Order: sequence, then C-alpha cells, then structure tokens
Amino acid sequence: MGDNDGHPKHHCGVFGVFGHPEAAKLTYLGLYALQHRGQEGAGIVCAGNGRLNGHRGVGLVSDVFKPHKLGRLKGDRAIGHVRYSTFGSNNLKNVQPLMADYAKGSMALGHNGNLVNAGALRDDLEERGGAIFQSTTDSEVIIQLIARSRKERFPDAVIEALRKVIGAYSIVALDNHCMVAARDPLGFRPLWIGRRGGATIFASETCALDIIDADWVREIEPGEVVVVTQDGMESYKPFEQVTPKPCIFEFIYVARPDSEIFGQSVDEVRKRLGRNLAKLAPVDADIVMSVPDSSNQAALGYAHESGIPFDMGFIRNHYVGRTFIEPDQSIRDFGVKIKLNAARSAIQGKRVVLIDDSIVRGTTSKKIIKVLRRCGVEEIHFRISAPPIINSCFYGIDTPDRERLIASQMSVEEIRQYLGVDSLVFMTIDGLLDAAGGNKDQYCTACFTNQYPTMLPSDFDRKEKDAPRHLDTSTELFF
Ligand code: AMP
Repeated sequence: MGDNDGHPKHHCGVFGVFGHPEAAKLTYLGLYALQHRGQEGAGIVCAGNGRLNGHRGVGLVSDVFKPHKLGRLKGDRAIGHVRYSTFGSNNLKNVQPLMADYAKGSMALGHNGNLVNAGALRDDLEERGGAIFQSTTDSEVIIQLIARSRKERFPDAVIEALRKVIGAYSIVALDNHCMVAARDPLGFRPLWIGRRGGATIFASETCALDIIDADWVREIEPGEVVVVTQDGMESYKPFEQVTPKPCIFEFIYVARPDSEIFGQSVDEVRKRLGRNLAKLAPVDADIVMSVPDSSNQAALGYAHESGIPFDMGFIRNHYVGRTFIEPDQSIRDFGVKIKLNAARSAIQGKRVVLIDDSIVRGTTSKKIIKVLRRCGVEEIHFRISAPPIINSCFYGIDTPDRERLIASQMSVEEIRQYLGVDSLVFMTIDGLLDAAGGNKDQYCTACFTNQYPTMLPSDFDRKEKDAPRHLDTSTELFF
C-alpha cells in the first residue's frame, strides 16, 4: 500500500552520500539522474553539526531545489528521494525522505517500493501502540518501528524494523552517526553502492552514480543491510535467505537504459526484447518506430533483427513529465498530445511496425494510434515488448486496479480492434525471460503471471490469516 487507499502507488528513486563535504549537492545531482523514477516530489536530508536538516517539496528536482535552499543543507552526509505517486497523495507530508525525532535522536528515511503488510502494521501501531502518523505513506511504518525499537544502535533498530515488514523496499536511512542502506530479501527494487574518492554513495541506478563520476562498486544484495560510519562500511545479512525475485518490469519500463541493474544492462535487455519480438511476430513493413523514449531500445532491437529500418516517427517533447504523472484520466489523455507528435514525412503512406514497452490501460495507445492514422499511415503493426499486464503490482509499480487493466478485460483480438491497428502482438513470458537472461524463478513476474512472491495486502485484512494466497515459504520467515 503506497498511500493507504488500498492501491499501490509509487515507484521512487533513492540516493545517499556519506563522507563528502558537498553531500547535498552530489545528492541533488543524483536525484536529477533518477528523476524518471519519480516526478511528483523530491527531498534531501543532510547530517552535519550534530543535527539533521532537510528540504522537501512537491514537483521536479529542479523546482524543489533552488540554490539558496541547497546551500543551506550543510554536512558531509545526505540522503535524497524522488517520489512518484498518483491522486490523493501528492502532498508535501508524503514527500520523502521522511524525518523524525525520537527518544534516541533524529533520523531520516527514503524508501523505494511498497510494503504489503503496511496497513496491518499501521493499524496495530495506531490501535495498540498509540502511534500518531504524520503521512499516509507505508514508509512511515518503518520509521515508527525504528522509533519503537529497544536496540541501542540505529542500524540494529533499522534491522529490527525491517524484520517486521513484508514487501518491497530499497531504503537509505540516516541518523547523526551513520547511514544505512538495505534491500528486501526478495530484492524487488535495485540499489547500488558507489564510491567517489573517500565517499560512499548509494543509488537506485548506476546512471545516478555516473552523473557524479562515482565508481560502480556493486549492487547491494537482496536481504543485505549495509552500514557506513566514520570507521568504514559493514555488511549484514540479518534475514533468512530466500530466492530473490527482482522486478522484471524494471527492465521493461522503469529503469533508464543507461543503467545496469540486477547484473544486466537495461539497454541490452530492451534490445533483446525487441529482437525477440521480431522473431516472434515478423511482418512486412517499411519502418520500425518507437513510442519514445521508453521503447526506443526495443524498437532498435526489432529493427536490427528484422532488417527493417528504424525511423523516428514520433518526436517527444522533453519538457513535460511522464504520461502517468497526472492524477486523472482526462488530464492524462491531454498529456499524450502535448508529449508526442508525429513526424509526418517519416510515416505518411508507410506500413509501420510500432513498438511500445507496455499497454496498461490502453489510453496512451489509443491516442497515439489516432495520431498516426491522422497522418496517413498505411498500416500499423503494433508490437509490445511486455506480455499483457493482467494483475496489479503490490511492490511499487504504479498499476491501476485489475478492472482498469485493458488486458485483464479484453482478449488480444478485442484490444486490436479497440485500438484500430492492423495487427497486435505482445511479448511472451518465455521471450521476456529469455531477454532478461533468467528463468521464471528468478524474477517477480506477478503483473503478467499472477504469481505473487509474497502475501498480498488483502491477506492481512482478513481475520483468519491461516490460509494466505500465494504464500511463498520465504514469507513465513518474516514473522
Ligand atoms: P496506458 O496503456 O495508457 O495506461 O499507458 C501505457 C504507457 O505508459 C506505456 O507505453 C508505458 O510507456 C507507460 N507505462 C507503463 N507502465 C507504467 C507505469 N507503471 N507508470 C507510468 N507509466 C507507465
């Protein structure tokens, strides 16, 4: 539950710097590189002179941080967060890093992912523990659990808190003495360790290490907790080890193609997806085009494999945010028009292979196909580099309720007719796994397969918790 309204909401980006005099400025740059992971809010919390100072705001990193605000964030450690969410939750109190003062001092937390038992934990903390929550985010549950821990050391309190939560988390946390970065045992979301001179860096993706010229050290492992203090870095594996299930949708859509995550180059995985699509669904056509930017690499892969030339049939206006950012359907429809325009001369009278990374509600596809038809395209062969999305994500990808997922309501042929294309083919699960270099046990593919690797929020709502759906043996270990 991202925002406590029964529906998962955010994918986000986190960043941290320990041991650099310009920690806040480096974090600002890191957040810039992670802007694609969240555009609705940004924040940085800095530790210096024995206290934490933060600044958070709603909007893009460049809107939130003006030079005078950044200049006030002094200290050699900082954590940052970019937030992505939808309606009802885009207010300042939900923007991260969350900060709290508690009996043992001050702390801050940035969290990427969704916890499936946050609602149940929150009810318990409020009803039995008398907790007062400041935000509606699931992330604040972690803060409350840390504050309630009896452990003396901050990292131990963080570990104790994380033992109680189930779901997806890649976190960076800070107190006055140390920085903690951790990935949940299933490793749903990425998290990297980097180094810049003597400073340790944490970042959701390597593109954020590159922007500050940091070396890539390694990915934090699923279930690993890394603690950095003045004395150096320590690594802990405090949770029972289980087979990791990183989110395969990170490759398809979320991560930047210039990043490496889960041991693979996103660019290469996307190109392989395109190649696999060309093998799966070849067609006679004049050009291959993408819906920029998210399907550029898949379209290139399709073009390479098929021998059909790639062309930029759509031009993207880069000065507007991602399509999904707007809270309701009417504004989102408008968003498509302001973002993408067809390069008429490139497509008029042509038979095009149109590649997109995914179809969620079908709204974007319907609009862009209308635009192409208006420009006199001869034929549209629509190829999707993800399989049909038939289930909601509970681990931090913004997917609507099942009923609003077009592929859960219509067959492929019905979708083809609804969109008005000449042919429509989705990637298969096997083709996807092949491109991601793994088998079905190596990734979370729940949005395509309904195989959720943990219990779901609804399992915690029920009184009888003895027969949870999709209970992976791994999840028992969390209790
Ligand atoms: P739609 O089918 O209109 O709901 O939107 C599908 C388009 O949104 C795809 O072409 C993707 O590029 C993009 N997309 C897919 N998943 C997400 C997501 N979770 N958040 C934001 N955008 C997404």
